[in-house]
Amino acid sequence: MNQKGNIVSPEIIKRIEELKELIHQHDYNYYILNEPIISDREYDLLMKELMDLENKYPFLITPDSPTQRVGGEPTKEFPVVIHEVPMLSLSNTYSIEELFDFHRRVKESLPEGEKIEYTVELKIDGVAVSLKYRNGLFIQGVTRGDGTRGDDITNNLRTIRSLPLRINFREVKRIHFDDIEVRGEVYMNREDFELLNRERTRLGEKPFANPRNATAGTLKLQDPKLVAERPLNLYCYYLRSNTKELHTQFENLTILKSLGFKVNPNHKLCFSIEEVIDFCKEWEEKRETLPYDIDGVVVKVNDLGQQEILGNVAKFPRWATAFKFESKKAKTKLKAITLQVGRLGTITPVAELEPVFLAGTTVSRATLHNFEEIQRKDIRIGDTVIIEKGGDIIPKIVEVVLDERTSKTIPFEIPDKCPVCGTKLYNPTGEVAYYCPNSDCLEQVKQRLVHFASRGAMDIEGLGEAVIDKFVNLGFLNSPADIYRLKERKSELIKLEGFGEKSINNLLQAIENSKNRPFERVLFAIGIRHVGASVAKDIVAHYFSIDELMKASEEELQKIPEIGETISKSIVSFFNNDSNLILIEELKKSGLKFEREKKAVSYKFAGKTFVITGTLKSMTRNKAKELIEKLGGRITDNVSSKTSYVIVGEEPGTKYDKAKNLNIPILKEEEFLKMVKD
Ligand code: NAD
Repeated sequence: MNQKGNIVSPEIIKRIEELKELIHQHDYNYYILNEPIISDREYDLLMKELMDLENKYPFLITPDSPTQRVGGEPTKEFPVVIHEVPMLSLSNTYSIEELFDFHRRVKESLPEGEKIEYTVELKIDGVAVSLKYRNGLFIQGVTRGDGTRGDDITNNLRTIRSLPLRINFREVKRIHFDDIEVRGEVYMNREDFELLNRERTRLGEKPFANPRNATAGTLKLQDPKLVAERPLNLYCYYLRSNTKELHTQFENLTILKSLGFKVNPNHKLCFSIEEVIDFCKEWEEKRETLPYDIDGVVVKVNDLGQQEILGNVAKFPRWATAFKFESKKAKTKLKAITLQVGRLGTITPVAELEPVFLAGTTVSRATLHNFEEIQRKDIRIGDTVIIEKGGDIIPKIVEVVLDERTSKTIPFEIPDKCPVCGTKLYNPTGEVAYYCPNSDCLEQVKQRLVHFASRGAMDIEGLGEAVIDKFVNLGFLNSPADIYRLKERKSELIKLEGFGEKSINNLLQAIENSKNRPFERVLFAIGIRHVGASVAKDIVAHYFSIDELMKASEEELQKIPEIGETISKSIVSFFNNDSNLILIEELKKSGLKFEREKKAVSYKFAGKTFVITGTLKSMTRNKAKELIEKLGGRITDNVSSKTSYVIVGEEPGTKYDKAKNLNIPILKEEEFLKMVKD
């Protein structure tokens, strides 16, 4: 029972916790690593289960619940900018019934008898960005981030050809659009994406899972020159003006076009929900005919006044929804089941399929997760199977077509030996996974290196799976410490086929650069079992250095809320292993960071709003704004009871009087500067 007297079974509380943890982990894979491991449909089902439970037991909603915030986070690698108007996510609908439900909710929330029109647009599967234009010039571009704060990626966005750096001046002057925000979707055409992936594979880099991931990964690059080489595009769909009142979404799309933005031509004004549904059905059929991926249709209440009445729930507007297309399925034959060995020895079965065309690509492999899944679904070699690609990631087998099973199919037998080194496999009690216990197994060695150099870990550009494979086979690499010794072999490396001086110089430079990765990334990279990227972050928040962490007992570690018995055991046992200690010593000598950065990023103005009135002596208003935003604060034009501070310069205007009337704290310029410095 909780304080309010509601009875909640411990299973429910446990399930909610489990769902939160799972979703956090998937958010991290999707938004930060750009490497989702489940389909969007599966993710949405987890989210729905959590929302349903929270609706039933609202007292169990915590501020850290993923239902309470938009998925991503700013990366800290770019300056952080606060959005003037939050960039929300969209609620999902998967069926016609759900669209009718959405329409009913809209109708019930608006005054009776109001006419409701919808603008329907394609939901481009890309990355949302916010663009600011002052007096017709592009001045800033920001990612959605966590919806409130995003990364300032202006320089990367400048490289996109379809992004206007200056907009139609005459139009700007004519309609008084001196200060606007435009939002749109950065995306990549499928064909360009395929080319990019082919090139990456050639260079031994890991291919991106889909065009959306490739786009997100590109926008996060630190070097705009590299971004410029990637084929990014932009469609705009949102307009907000600080100087002019706007009326409808449909009209906004027309204005955007007249200002010189690229607007997707496939949008429509609908006068009934039936018309909306027809549009959704039409595009679900026609999606393959487009050169880029769409994952649904966005349905928006057309009238901006009505949008305002409808407002938002925690992370979605009530006036819009995304109708998401069903993931695509196809029928094919299972030719064989092969085994993959992971960096920690986990054996994963993989389905080798007769190649089949599905949602834009040819599929010849699918994941089978574990042996239990093969047995549960009774999948046999030679079976006809249905495969599905959700969110366009790695496909999976959803079911066997039993009607087409012949006597020639062969049931799968769980192997007892590692397919690479031949060591006997073991299956810990209570786990579904089977492991190869030999940590010197060549495949484990390679996969540990792949993990170490991967994007979420040390992020060494150019050191992908194919290059690692080659270097291990040549005896150049055996442990992550060897990566930092590669420079001693420079002359040998240059002579290797497919390399050359330029690419080796780039690789060695990328290896040097990786020494700047913060402690939490290094901790994740060294590959302690169960210590994922988010657990590594939690550990670093509690332990200043690896030396402190090494001394911690299981009990001490469990004081960190996110760490339970399994993780703490795994950490302690990792540090009890001599070869791990040697690795850490070697990496320390190479100059990797095994201590937390002393200077943490400060957000001391987070949640605070400032208004400036009068002329400032020591800086321009823009400079003041920059200072405030850098520290997480926001600047607004008008004083209201919600304003946190009013900064007063020389010859202040009426805002000063208003601030006094409302008892808002007033700061002189010097006081403000002192606050910034303290
Ligand atoms: P979303 O993709 O469902 O919808 C919101 C986004 O749609 C906007 O931010 C914008 O980027 C985009 N959009 C495209 N065209 C648009 C248009 N015409 N008008 C307005 N917006 C348009 O929501 P999200 O918050 O970006 O992502 C959440 C979704 O991501 C989930 O529903 C899930 O499907 C997926 N996800 C998957 C995983 C996974 O592990 N597979 C993890 C996290 C999230």
